[in-house]
Amino acid sequence: MRLVLVGPPGAGKGTQAQFLAAHYSIPHISTGDIFRANLKANTPLGQEAKTFMDAGQLVPDSVTNAMVKDRLTWDDLANGFLLDGFPRNVVQAEVLRAILAEKSTPLDAVLELSIPNELIIARLSSRRTCRACGQPATPEAANCGACGGELYQREDDKAEVIGKRLEVYEEQTEPIIHFYRTEGLLITIDADGEISEITERATTALARVKA
Ligand code: AMP
Repeated sequence: MRLVLVGPPGAGKGTQAQFLAAHYSIPHISTGDIFRANLKANTPLGQEAKTFMDAGQLVPDSVTNAMVKDRLTWDDLANGFLLDGFPRNVVQAEVLRAILAEKSTPLDAVLELSIPNELIIARLSSRRTCRACGQPATPEAANCGACGGELYQREDDKAEVIGKRLEVYEEQTEPIIHFYRTEGLLITIDADGEISEITERATTALARVKA
């Protein structure tokens, strides 16, 4: 299964991506996670991405596209992949289509997680993230439920940056919904509800797609 997951920040892409990647035995490729890992390790890529990430803006396409192109050469893609957070604009969607066309491995589906803006703002502004493993947590939690690591609030989950991220989503990422609908790849599900319910909706919808 070659799958793209798309949806606004806070729609639960990362959480659903983990379940879906396990379900289909495919790697979960999150561009946000790759950037954050580079930030933590203070690599040149991390340094380059930091200002954009902290401001809630997109890292330039030249940097992001090269990173994804490289990731898609790894030898763990026999069963496919799940891209989370990429593409985020039409140029990236076109680059992805070209990379995959070259390998004769086109996408099977694009799953859109749909959720109202009010819910997003509430979710993101209260989200905490584990410094060690990246799992999300609630503000009440003392430590990460998955690994016990220290929790922090992502710079881009602070109230002043959330609005910017939503604006970037509407202006730059929403046009890819139309792009993929035209390509006949788009599947939209309601992303409001229990995590397991949403996974169920996703796998039911994706069962109609070639495995
Ligand atoms: P995420 O964890 O997916 O919300 O991504 C966090 C941040 O990483 C975004 O707000 C962007 O600054 C950057 N980022 C992640 N994916 C992309 C992408 N496909 N294109 C440009 N920037 C990205």
